[in-house]
Amino acid sequence: MDGHEIGLVAKTLRQKTEGLRRAGVRYRTKATKKKAAAIVEGTDRPTQLAAVAAEVAACTRCSELARCRTQTVFGVGNPNAELCFVGEAPGADEDAQGEPFVGAAGQLLTRIIGAMGLQRSDVYICNVLKCRPPGNRPPEPEEIANCRGYLERQLEIIQPKFICALGAHAAKTLLDSSLSIGRLRGRFHQFRGIPVLCTYHPAYLLRTPEAKKDVWEDVQVLMKEMGLQKAEGGRGKAE
Ligand code: URA
Repeated sequence: MDGHEIGLVAKTLRQKTEGLRRAGVRYRTKATKKKAAAIVEGTDRPTQLAAVAAEVAACTRCSELARCRTQTVFGVGNPNAELCFVGEAPGADEDAQGEPFVGAAGQLLTRIIGAMGLQRSDVYICNVLKCRPPGNRPPEPEEIANCRGYLERQLEIIQPKFICALGAHAAKTLLDSSLSIGRLRGRFHQFRGIPVLCTYHPAYLLRTPEAKKDVWEDVQVLMKEMGLQKAEGGRGKAE
């Protein structure tokens, strides 16, 4: 690790330490990973998530991403959520704010969540990659392989009853499938026993508004299985 990378890790750790302290994590940074895992075992979900977030914040497995990021973008929302949305990777707005889906695509996702009769704080939102790929290029297979363990641990902690995979990268990562999102969407698949509904990514909808009707169909499949009522005026609300 060169001096610049060490500086980046130190900066990110400083940003995250305060969150960890607030979450009640009591181990010191000198503790080994094994000791830390033992200490947090049996603790509540926010504490466990904060511990994984701290690891992510210090991660330099993808040297280009670690060098280029402003900060890592771990996840946001209800640690006890029944529904977890999984996107692709942070964009520029998410990299700047440290929160997933806060840019234009995120605002559309927020409207989709609203059309389901839910709020962002009811669900959990995260991405396959926790760092922004420079220029918003698609994630490399090696980056997905480096990061997938973090996503798996998030899902193990949250134990959602349903997952909604947004776009091809999330769908293929969770399902280990090479099928296109067009083939995967609209029906349930399984990730470790959890039903996964795949649909188009909100960023794709911004470029292809005619696909909104497909996403609304997919969302209704999910809502039916979740026992959610259609929000008043349903379809219009997500548009
Ligand atoms: N696109 C994603 O896949 N995730 C984000 O957080 C923002 C845009």
